Amino acid sequence: MRTPDYTNGFGSAEPEPQAPSLTGVSPCAIYSRMSLDPKLLEVLACPACKLPVSLLPDGSGLRCDGCRRIYPVVDDIPVMLIDEALQDSSPKEPA
Ligand SMILES: [Zn+2]
Repeated sequence: MRTPDYTNGFGSAEPEPQAPSLTGVSPCAIYSRMSLDPKLLEVLACPACKLPVSLLPDGSGLRCDGCRRIYPVVDDIPVMLIDEALQDSSPKEPA
């Protein structure tokens, strides 16, 4: 019994795997896969009082300790707009 053999004998008959090109990837596509960059947080400041903001434990927003506004984070993008900010009405937590 003879078995047709098309895979051996000529080395690699498979097409060369294409190396993925990074030239078409925008920085936004890379950042969208990351959580908020700590370095980004360092440079973010409350637009109302210019104080640094801190990320909420659940990552859903950035809170300003000065005016206690909470800026929402949408798709890992902080929305640093006073009009979009929520006012934190909860009592200040003890440190
Ligand atoms: Zn503020």
